[in-house]
Order: sequence, then structure tokens, then C-alpha cells
Amino acid sequence: MRRLTKIICTLGPTAKTPAQVEALARGGMNVARINLSHGSWEEHRATIRLVKALNKKLAAEGKLPSCVGILLDTKGAEVRTGNVTTPLKVKKGELVVFSPKPLPKEKKKVVIVDYKGFARDAKAADQILLDNGKITFQFVSANRDGSVVARAKQDGSIGSRRHVNLPGANLDMPSLTKDDWISIAVGAEEGVDFLGLSFIRKASEIHDVRDWLKKKKKHVSLVAKIETRQGVDNLQDIIDVSDAMMVARGDLGAEIPFEQVPVVQDVMVSLSRKAGIPVIVATHMLESMVENPIPTRAEVTDIAHAATTSTDVTMLSGETASGAHPLLALDAMDRVLRETENHLSKSRKMLHAEIRNERDAQAQSAVTFGLSSHAAAIVVMTRSGQTAREIARFRPHLPIIALTPDPQVQRALQLSFGVFPLVVPFSADPERTVKESMAKIKKAGLLKKGEKFVLVTDMKSHSESHSTMQVRIA
Ligand code: PEP
Repeated sequence: MRRLTKIICTLGPTAKTPAQVEALARGGMNVARINLSHGSWEEHRATIRLVKALNKKLAAEGKLPSCVGILLDTKGAEVRTGNVTTPLKVKKGELVVFSPKPLPKEKKKVVIVDYKGFARDAKAADQILLDNGKITFQFVSANRDGSVVARAKQDGSIGSRRHVNLPGANLDMPSLTKDDWISIAVGAEEGVDFLGLSFIRKASEIHDVRDWLKKKKKHVSLVAKIETRQGVDNLQDIIDVSDAMMVARGDLGAEIPFEQVPVVQDVMVSLSRKAGIPVIVATHMLESMVENPIPTRAEVTDIAHAATTSTDVTMLSGETASGAHPLLALDAMDRVLRETENHLSKSRKMLHAEIRNERDAQAQSAVTFGLSSHAAAIVVMTRSGQTAREIARFRPHLPIIALTPDPQVQRALQLSFGVFPLVVPFSADPERTVKESMAKIKKAGLLKKGEKFVLVTDMKSHSESHSTMQVRIA
């Protein structure tokens, strides 16, 4: 059976050439993520164009993979260390100074941070976490020059552009910084499919971006990244206005007590599915594979847990962007997801979801119809992608083949569980569209001649269009 849970791979130094990116796409990457916390705009623009060129090639082939979505992930209101030529080594118990500017006369080791208000906000936090908590520091004092003295609680080394978290402090900067607004504008201009909005704390921040895009007549799907206590507290409001959600466990696990992360993850996955929007479980899924060729047993269990709780997407970060084994990490994730889905499919063929309206009832019927008739797939004609997402909400263990005339909708559907999107021009005569679609579906290897499928489409009867559901044979 085909893998139904989707995979995002972050691109970066070890995944940036056309050959490397193509290898990831053929290895199962559904969406390519560009992390704006690293690299230059020149590099990001080149990467976006490279994925677009690959999409042209894939479209011409007409097989699977059919396309790769592009997710541009903004930096957000985060604090990072400055660039260093060699990582700074610190010893347990050592006093270190964190400063937004160089301190040439300082005798203690200085860690540069890219946030001017660091001393003011650090006072509210008892601890400073570096590199997602790889080293922790005890706050000692804040100086008038904007620097902070803190004591290392472990030995460690601090590299360039590492995350700095102040758990419990509310950073005095907007979630969407000036830089983020530039990123949103460039992303919309370059035609990316998703904008990952970091450190989203309230629904109004999503509204602001959506209103701005609307004014510019651009459409990009908005992914709300939850990585703070405030974001967790306002979860349902944020879900209600977002196109997709991300459990950004790296920062989240440093901003809230780490023991709360699994519960927040499960609640987010369940509420997002209920709302019918895709949800991504991100960060540290195969962290050990940044160095090692095989994963730890706990990591594979983490991926299996995400699949068992029915997330739409699992994500790789440093594993593909800068790790020693990008393709092995992708292969490991792919294999664990397949194995888990295969196991689950023996006992549960679909999940229950609340029926909120007639469309939900139709989506549920398509799934029960498909399962009871032992169909090989559900085929759905969808202009906006909405009907496919409504079916995915029931997490059928059956591929949903989504046919759309719009390549942007095709790429957006790469985040939805079990959806295999193909582009097909829609003719005025739906039956003609079905005929042309069948040739494409077979070429892509999604259905074989003689296989049964459920078709969800509008059909014309006496000049009126009617929503129909039919069992057909490929
Ligand atoms: C995270 O914190 O888990 C995350 C995905 O965000 P980023 O890596 O962009 O900081």
C-alpha cells in the first residue's frame, strides 16, 4: 500500500543541488521546506526556482511523485546566537555573558544574541536554553549595557545561529517581525505554496497576513506554527483561521515544560483533524540521524506515534538540511510510516469525525462507500481542494485521488493525509473530464485496469449540475 502520511523535508546545505532535491522528491518528499532562519535570499530564491523546475519535469513525466509543494518558513520573533568561526566551548559552572553587541573588553566568554531587548526579557526567565535545550544556563544578572550574565549548567559548545529560548518570558517583539513581512512579500511574489508563520500567539496575526495577501491579490496557504505558551492557550482560535498547523516541538519544548509537549501535540493533531485542516508534527523526529545512519528506537516510536494519532504530515529538519544522511533519514521515516499504517489498516479503516453539514455527510459516505465496495481508491474532482480535505478528515486507509485543474491546488494538497493530487483540465462535459482523468490516473500508477473506485463529482442532468457518488471500474 502507498504511504498516506505526508513528509516534509527541510532543504539546506546537504539538500540544495538539483540532483539532491530530485533524489529527495523521488525518495518520498511531498513538501520542501525552506527555513528562513538560515541562508540568504539569493539562496532561497534559487531553491524555490529549483523546486519549480523539478515540478515541471515531474508534470511532464506524469508519474508519481506528481509534484512537490514549497513551504517558506519565516524566522518569527525568535532569538538566535550570532555567527562564529569556531563553536564556543563552555564548562559547567562557568559564567558567560550574552550580549546583543560585541564586548571587546569583557574577560568572560561572550555569546552574541540577535535581540536588543535580551537583558530586559531575560529577567523574567529563570533560565536560558540554547540549541533547543542542549545547554541550559542559570540567569545571574542583567547589566545596563544590555548584556546578561548567566552560569552554564552543563559543558557544551555554542555554534552559529543556535536557538536561544527564555522559558516563561514574553518576548517584547511582535510575532511577525519586519523581516517576516519582507519574507511574506517575497514568498507571495515567488509563488510559494505555504507560508510557515513562526511563534503565532493569537488568531489576529493570521488575519493580518491573510488581509495583506488579499489586498495584494495573492493566495498562499498559511501554516500557524505553535511554539509558545500563548499559542497553546489560543489554540482553537488559531486553528479556526489557519489553513494548516505545525507542532513546532523544537521551540515549544523549550518555551513550555517539555513533559507537556506530547499532550499538546496530541491535542493539536486531534483538534486540527476535527477542523479539517492539515497538521504537521515537526522537529527532532530523527535527530540522531543528523550523524548516524540508523535511527534510535525511541525516534521510530515517535514517528509511529504521530501516525497512530493520525497526523497528516511528519517533518524532517536538520536531518535532511544539514545532516550526514539526508536520504537515509527520509527512507527511515518513510519505512516507519508505511509499516505503522499497514498495521493500523488491519484494525481501523477510517476514523470518526463530527458531521457538521451536508458536505461532511457526503465525504463520510464516500469513505464508507469506498470501503464497503472494496474500492482501490476514492477519486474526487476538486477545484479548490476542499472536497479532498473533507474526505481526508475521516483518515480513510484508501488513497484519495484528487483531480484539479489548478497546479497550485495540486501542490497545496500535498499536505493532506492520503491525498494524491493530479492536474487535469476540467471540461464543460464532466464525463469527458473523467475519461481524460482515467488515462492520467493509470499513467501515474494510482489505479490499474479493472480496479474499482468511488467517483465523487458533479454530473450534468438536464442542464443542471448535481453532486454524485458512483462506483466505477478503471
Ligand atoms: C521548531 O521550533 O520546532 C520549528 C520547526 O521551528 P524552527 O526550526 O523554524 O525554529
